[in-house]
Amino acid sequence: MNKNVRFQGEPTPDYYEPEIDYEEPVPDYDNYDDNDNMPLGATAAAAQDTGTLRQMSRSADTEHDLSAMENLNEASILRVLEERFSHDVIQTYIGDVLIVINPYKKLDLYGERYHEMYKFVNRRADLEPHIYWTVDHAYRRMVDSTANQVILISGESGAGKTESTKLVVKHLTHICQSTVSDLHDRIVKVNPLLEAFGNAQTVMNHNSSRFGKFVELVFNGNGQMKGACIYDYLLEKSRVVHLGPHERNFHVFYYMFAGMPAETLRYYYLEDPMAHRILKSEDNQKGVFFGEYDKERCAQMFHDMESIMEEVGFTKDDIATVYTCLAAVLFITNVEFQPEDDDIGVIIMDDYPVNIVADLLTIDISKLTTALLSRTCVVNDEDIVALKTLEQANDERDAIAKSLYSRLFGWIVRQVNTNLMDTSQGSLSGSNTIGILDLSGFENFSDNSFEQLCINVANEKLQYFFNTFIFATEQAIYAEEGIDWSQIEFRNNEDILRLFLGEEGVGQTRHKKMAFGRQPDMFTIIDDESKSPRATDASLVLNWNKNIGTHQHFRLLDGDELAFIISHFADEVLYNASNFLEKNRDRLGNNLMNVLQKSENDFIKDLFKAELTDTGVLSRTKSRIRSGSTRVQCGRSVRRRDRGSISTDTVRRLKTRGKRQLPSGAVQKAQTTVSQHFRTSLDELMKKMNNAQPLFVRCIKPNNHQEPDKWKDNLVQRQLQYSGVLQIAKIARLGYPVRMAFSNFYKR
Ligand code: ATP
Ligand code: MG
Repeated sequence: MNKNVRFQGEPTPDYYEPEIDYEEPVPDYDNYDDNDNMPLGATAAAAQDTGTLRQMSRSADTEHDLSAMENLNEASILRVLEERFSHDVIQTYIGDVLIVINPYKKLDLYGERYHEMYKFVNRRADLEPHIYWTVDHAYRRMVDSTANQVILISGESGAGKTESTKLVVKHLTHICQSTVSDLHDRIVKVNPLLEAFGNAQTVMNHNSSRFGKFVELVFNGNGQMKGACIYDYLLEKSRVVHLGPHERNFHVFYYMFAGMPAETLRYYYLEDPMAHRILKSEDNQKGVFFGEYDKERCAQMFHDMESIMEEVGFTKDDIATVYTCLAAVLFITNVEFQPEDDDIGVIIMDDYPVNIVADLLTIDISKLTTALLSRTCVVNDEDIVALKTLEQANDERDAIAKSLYSRLFGWIVRQVNTNLMDTSQGSLSGSNTIGILDLSGFENFSDNSFEQLCINVANEKLQYFFNTFIFATEQAIYAEEGIDWSQIEFRNNEDILRLFLGEEGVGQTRHKKMAFGRQPDMFTIIDDESKSPRATDASLVLNWNKNIGTHQHFRLLDGDELAFIISHFADEVLYNASNFLEKNRDRLGNNLMNVLQKSENDFIKDLFKAELTDTGVLSRTKSRIRSGSTRVQCGRSVRRRDRGSISTDTVRRLKTRGKRQLPSGAVQKAQTTVSQHFRTSLDELMKKMNNAQPLFVRCIKPNNHQEPDKWKDNLVQRQLQYSGVLQIAKIARLGYPVRMAFSNFYKR
């Protein structure tokens, strides 16, 4: 029996033939256990009913599009997905939305045969659901309508976003031509390089992206690819200085120790990875590498990474400078302070790492030491130089490492972009684009900080975009058919966005906001507090409570002055506001900044003069930073001084000059905050989204152990809820669960 079904979001009606036998009894999956893989009571009995099982397994074979299911609800979606998964059928549509369940094993699904099969697909129903269809569809829409396209790939850590992004790029390079012979090759090749610097092993994913990315592929009027640009978002730079249990730092550090010849390592003063604080997680008993195999793999990755750097145009000097910066990060974080006897100021316990950093970065050692021990701040409009407390000295030492690493990462992204632009084609403006978004999914850990808040707000924004698009499309269809749209309810997250970002969060312009007066929102309040010398994390929470405490999505946790709870679209998240202000200010002390900007190495100097690269939010400058030759000389040894000599002298000098201790929370010269960058880059991203026709890929992980053939029902169920799949299902059920062509309906 053929039933043609029209899908939401199709510009022209498309026809599908899901085989649903409407005479079959349909199981009742509504009554489902949240915490168990088995249905409850009556439903369990129903599941054992052979008729039901027969229907489920047939639907697994033939049900390509869940929105065509007659009995559409959370449990029935789960069952169909599980059944398909058990047959290694990991891709399923809900309308135009593609759900991909991570198989955690290699499936023969993406080779040449499939590229050919999904090239210029005429009837989607003739083929199994596939991410290549999504790509083909986006490409055809772009060529036919000259409208920009965007493919939004979402999901939790480990769900398969980055692998899916690679597959999208891979298929695109197969179905279109490019104006430059090896452009396709280059686009695919840069991934391992970006992953070396931007990915790390976490408890969730052995190759977890610790940054978000938007890959924009640019096409000319004939649909030929003529360039690409990668935008990076929210690099998790806190990882550079702190690792949670069972976690690793960014891959590149391990690659270096595993793959660099011993002599080259020594050239950068490197020897034993275990000698570096930031490579050891709290529980790393086995040492830095997890056995010989791991070390060999890291060595191989090092060689691959180095070849890619050469291939994408890094000079020998560039590459040496990259390693110099990485070594500087490893040594600056080894600097340890101890409080002075009189409790004013700190001294450096061992000058060796400071000397190495000064040498690697070609900066003045005494200026570096002074800047590590003291800072200049503004109190009542007056510049005060003051000695740091232990906490301040530790924080600012780590700030150098974070800043250096994230600026280096931004520089690498820019270099890659320079290589991916087909400069012979001139400006890329006025072209059509297909963008692919691979942003970290919603996060809810046992300890959630400022980073989680930013990621979750970005996800709220994407969810809002998803809602707007899906519902707007539905609305158009219902209006066309004369159906009363107001009957259909959906979970709107506008209010949560207003809580974080004010009216701007839901698309109102700054101008409009000003005209109607300023409504305090969480991000405005954190910025205001960040400017105040007396503000603390606790006062920030109090201030939030005073201004937005009555908001239905915000509440405090009794008995903890730093805890607050947000009811996000996906779930309730308990945040810990400790360090929020410092993380938002994200400043490198002016003194340290001045020292780094005076490096004799042009590269380092330019790196710290470049704007907008210190937040890890977005690197947009496309101009190439001049790379100067590094000053590091092979075999040059660092003059080792007696323990504490420089630091003690410096502290004494500062004291005799009448410098005093810095008041806690005193602020230095105002710099752009993380939340300001975050807003700007989110706005720019949303502008791109709004100027494009979207397609959505929802990645789901079947278990938390990165294992094949394991399905955890409640985990999948939760992700379906997070990703809003059930909302689409609900709309489809309340409205048109099946859209059948009239002729077929009549025939039936
Ligand atoms: P994160 O947010 O941590 O970056 P992610 O969603 O990007 O996570 P991926 O790195 O893409 O997740 O995938 C995690 C792992 O799952 C991959 O390293 C790979 O082993 C496996 N995987 C993902 N997608 C597929 C697929 N389509 N086929 C086979 N294995 C896959
Ligand atoms: Mg990823």
